Amino acid sequence: MEQTKYLIAGSSHAALSALNSIRMLDQDGSLVMITKDGRLPYSPTVLPYVVSGQSKPEKVQLRDDEFFAKNNVNFIAGAGLSGLDADKKTVTLEDGREWRYEKLLLATGAAPAIPGIPGLPDTPYHVLRSMDDAVNLNALLEKVKTAVVLGGGLIGMHAAENLIKAGVAVTIVEMRPQVLPAYFDAQAAKIIEQTFADNGVAMRIGETLVGAQPDGGTPDSKGAKVSLDGGDEISTDLLLVCTGVAPSISYLEGGPVETDQGILVDECMATNIENIWAAGDVAQASNFYGGEKTIGGILPAAVEQGRIAGMAMIDDPAIKPYPGNVPLNTYGFFGNQAVSVGVSDENALGEGTEVSLSVNEEEMFYQKILIGGGCLLGISGINSKFDPGVMWQLVLLRTDLAPVKDEFLRDPATVGLDLMSRIWR
Ligand SMILES: Cc1cc2nc3c(=O)[nH]c(=O)nc-3n(C[C@H](O)[C@H](O)[C@H](O)COP(=O)(O)OP(=O)(O)OC[C@H]3O[C@@H](n4cnc5c(N)ncnc54)[C@H](O)[C@@H]3O)c2cc1C
Repeated sequence: MEQTKYLIAGSSHAALSALNSIRMLDQDGSLVMITKDGRLPYSPTVLPYVVSGQSKPEKVQLRDDEFFAKNNVNFIAGAGLSGLDADKKTVTLEDGREWRYEKLLLATGAAPAIPGIPGLPDTPYHVLRSMDDAVNLNALLEKVKTAVVLGGGLIGMHAAENLIKAGVAVTIVEMRPQVLPAYFDAQAAKIIEQTFADNGVAMRIGETLVGAQPDGGTPDSKGAKVSLDGGDEISTDLLLVCTGVAPSISYLEGGPVETDQGILVDECMATNIENIWAAGDVAQASNFYGGEKTIGGILPAAVEQGRIAGMAMIDDPAIKPYPGNVPLNTYGFFGNQAVSVGVSDENALGEGTEVSLSVNEEEMFYQKILIGGGCLLGISGINSKFDPGVMWQLVLLRTDLAPVKDEFLRDPATVGLDLMSRIWR
């Protein structure tokens, strides 16, 4: 059995961020990065652009072999963790190899969650989470004429736009009453939905897919026929299922590491088991707004959690506790820019939340600011010019807006930047 001081499972944003923290203070400690994906690290956020052909797989690597050699990292790709023995401090890989670790980081992210729709398991369908998924979808583009995208979340909407731009006739089916409910309220979502419809996407919002079966397709792509709850049936060359993700934690089954939806961690990303940490989409961490622990589910959260986990693994005295998950999303669609920071729906907050709304649908402008207890709780916009990173910091730092509230509501971009530059100084 081989041994290592640090073992990192996963090679995406959380894993690489942790690696960075560790190597800041310990350049020589043996470090193994084991990842299920067979490729060099890449960001899942580029996948829709690989589907459309805008980005090439070999051009979007986050790190290369030279980086791993220079940083004294034994990078093992194409070898997922299949088991963990916390007492013996060993992991087993899918190919049977075993490693003993001193400190272990679980940064295995999330994988597509497939809904239990009758007939779906026997129907050809695609998902979009890995580079292989994206490369396969890209290869199909010239061969398919129609696509049904199941799910109006971020990934489904990105994929749908890239498919229609590639000349495929696209239908989005979303069972909830609006698209992107995690990031925008119904009014903002309507503007986004209308833009998709104006660009030729058939929007079936508030409709549920209740059945699927194999059906024709093209010589190169196996097709599907799907049924909606209203009775309509749609035949399609390509069915893309984008109905959310679930943390990849099957290797923990039956073991002592505590899980709920994901791996439960404290404010320094430690699990309930000594010398095991978790970070990124696999981890269920504290929620900035209070209440139950949640999964961050976004890139900046994965990077920050990874950074803290790495610092904890190396006992870095500069470590500061994770402030909790604050959503942050920037979403470009058909030349427009939508941004959502923190909470976008005041109904999710307590009484006394102040709402400032400014909408001009003709000019595709939307801006909503939520303030509570004198602090910014959330801001969302379409073609609004504020800097999402600045707003994220204002939320996280619970910056007191009271002295500048009226100016901030009028011009959050300038006032926010001014506030932050004074804080940073
Ligand atoms: C199409 C798409 C678009 C997105 N767009 C955005 C966006 O615009 N903004 C945003 O903030 N976020 C976006 N996200 C989400 C963002 O990519 C994730 O939040 C982020 O990648 C999470 O990073 P992570 O390191 O936790 O895990 P992941 O990126 O999920 O990576 C998981 C890693 O674990 C490895 N792994 C999995 N199972 C095992 C195992 N058993 N053993 C070993 N290794 C394993 C995988 O090989 C991979 O390296 C998008 C995601 C997708 C799929």
